[in-house]
Amino acid sequence: MAADSPAYFTIIMLLSRLLAFMGLSKNAGLLALEPSHDPTDIAAASQDFGLIVKSAPQGVLFPFSPQELASFIQSNYKSSAPLTVAARGLAHSVRGQALAKDGVVIDMFSLGSNPNGTGISVSGDGTYVDVGAEQLWIDVLNVTLRSGLAPVSWTDYLYLTVGGTLSNAGISGQTFRFGPQISNVYELDVVTGVGDFVTCSPNQNSDLFYAVLGGLGQFGIITRARIPLAPAPKGVKWIRLLYSDFAAFSKDQELLISKNDRTDQTALNYVEGSLLLSQASLDPFFSPEDQPRIVDLITKSGIVYSLEIVKHYDDQSKPTVDKDLEQLLKGLGYLPDFLFEKDVTYFEFLNRVRAEEMFLRSKGLWEVPHPWLNLFVPKSGIAAFNDGVFKGIVLKRNITTGPLLVYPMNRNKWDDRMSASVPDEEIFYTVGFLHASGFDNWQTYDEQNKLVFLFCEEAGIEVKLYLLPYATKEEWSVHFGSKWDTFQQRKQQFDPKFLSSPGQNIFNNN
Ligand SMILES: Cc1cc2nc3c(=O)[nH]c(=O)nc-3n(C[C@H](O)[C@H](O)[C@H](O)COP(=O)(O)OP(=O)(O)OC[C@H]3O[C@@H](n4cnc5c(N)ncnc54)[C@H](O)[C@@H]3O)c2cc1C
Repeated sequence: MAADSPAYFTIIMLLSRLLAFMGLSKNAGLLALEPSHDPTDIAAASQDFGLIVKSAPQGVLFPFSPQELASFIQSNYKSSAPLTVAARGLAHSVRGQALAKDGVVIDMFSLGSNPNGTGISVSGDGTYVDVGAEQLWIDVLNVTLRSGLAPVSWTDYLYLTVGGTLSNAGISGQTFRFGPQISNVYELDVVTGVGDFVTCSPNQNSDLFYAVLGGLGQFGIITRARIPLAPAPKGVKWIRLLYSDFAAFSKDQELLISKNDRTDQTALNYVEGSLLLSQASLDPFFSPEDQPRIVDLITKSGIVYSLEIVKHYDDQSKPTVDKDLEQLLKGLGYLPDFLFEKDVTYFEFLNRVRAEEMFLRSKGLWEVPHPWLNLFVPKSGIAAFNDGVFKGIVLKRNITTGPLLVYPMNRNKWDDRMSASVPDEEIFYTVGFLHASGFDNWQTYDEQNKLVFLFCEEAGIEVKLYLLPYATKEEWSVHFGSKWDTFQQRKQQFDPKFLSSPGQNIFNNN
């Protein structure tokens, strides 16, 4: 049997897993797990959700335990011709960040198939949950809810891996109050770029801890995260307020996020915003009876701004939640008669994007190219951004498909020691153009993305990309700004051969 034949590989892998299961360390040098070269595995690891970048790895590794992963990374690092290595969560990246051209892609899900693995485990006292980095946030939610608990910071969509979002930031309407997901981690296990297995936290190996949070996979692979928990609410009041005037919309958003103490029971739990540009941008939140007058409003105004807020309640606060909300909404400048309200369970609210995904899947509109643009825009530039981009580019070109999000966050909820880089102002907005395109026209959206970027450059608005790689190291150094030196030092410390997550284009140009 040839050493590179699929049957040989399968036998080695099974043997190796059997030994791992029996607790025999791979570091003892018994057997080193080899990547699969199966064309089906290679093809699956060659693209991502964006469906724009395609690049094939040499192999795909299916580790069964962090030790097995560490052993592979260590021997690859020590070899005379080491390969680049990219962890692949669900590959929900849109520009090839989870790919590794001619390198090795690590299939994170295989870690979850180990019955002795971390899985999702709520602590005895209910203060935290230990989660394998390959786990999906939807599963974390389902498991913690069984104990009446939940994490406090989320993404809009929950079918993302814990390791994947912690490598970016993990933001949503809770960020203004609780910070991004990376601000809500007690401890991590990481296999560094040299293959060391390290537990880290703010008090232990803190350099590595802060490096990997928002670290874009540059310093190693997260295998476990310890996430704080809080009592889960029973239900949520979910409200949309419509505006035709951007100044009133952003003023109200900023007012609402100014009440942001974590422990303040009277504060909102979620603040987001989006643009309604046509009938197609109306989601099922708006009932069929309400839709015609909203469409009229869009026709009249060109752009309608939708402010979305949520207030949690439990048995105790249920009788007073409406009054509390009334108080919060007093004096806001939304259009009278354009307030829409729902009362749903916490799970229904957090999992709201799933229904949309299923709908798009049923129409064949999910597995299409996604030429997304996600930006952080400083508050000082957001009015000019509205004039120059929303009105000047988006409305005129009229090609936008998919949600267009815009909502503010408080910088003081982001820990500056973490790798994630955000604008220097105390309030900044996230703007997300979540385009879905055809296979033959994604370039048109990319042209628009470039125009947006160019406009910001010319208007002196210092935006930062989120969830997207820059093309050159120089652009990355500008992005990281004062953090760049530390970022490079940490790279030298934890991944000195520049092997980790090459698809981010920071130290490798794929
Ligand atoms: C429909 C949709 C909705 C989204 N909504 C939001 C949102 O509301 N808020 C938000 O913040 N983001 C959102 N995202 C973006 C999402 O957070 C990122 O794409 C994230 O990377 C997804 O996780 P993943 O497991 O698919 O990561 P991958 O795409 O698999 O990986 C992303 C990067 O992280 C690295 N990586 C993956 N796992 C690990 C690990 N365990 N350790 C170290 N590095 C790792 C990879 O090598 C790669 O560089 C959304 C994406 C989609 C497709």
